[in-house]
Amino acid sequence: MIKKVDHIGIAVKSIEQALPFYTEVLKLHLLGMEEVESQKVKVAFLKAGETKLELLEPTDDSSPIFKFIEKRGEGIHHVALGVDSIQARIDEIKEKGIQMINHEPKPGAGNALVAFMHPKSTGSVLFELCEKKG
Ligand code: ZN
Repeated sequence: MIKKVDHIGIAVKSIEQALPFYTEVLKLHLLGMEEVESQKVKVAFLKAGETKLELLEPTDDSSPIFKFIEKRGEGIHHVALGVDSIQARIDEIKEKGIQMINHEPKPGAGNALVAFMHPKSTGSVLFELCEKKG
């Protein structure tokens, strides 16, 4: 069902300030940056071998990432699991009694469809299902 860990999401106050650690100290390759309007975040993807790190910076204080940083500080925000047929995976997970935040996939960063599971159902880990389009 799960192909791999597609990426790990890390909440930061400022991508500009956080980036040199990733690119200069860890020497990870910056794959790209984009803004995800619906989530009010700016994201930067870094290639880390077979997986990626996704830095998430809030663009607005109504962003879920802004609220996360307020509450818990910067740090690991979510683990994204790569899947095919995301709607079928969502339905399967719900059949097992796991609560989803998103019952239908929505457009996410990196030209992907994404859906989050509710951390109440997953031992407090925020898991994202993520299917690459095209
Ligand atoms: Zn993500």
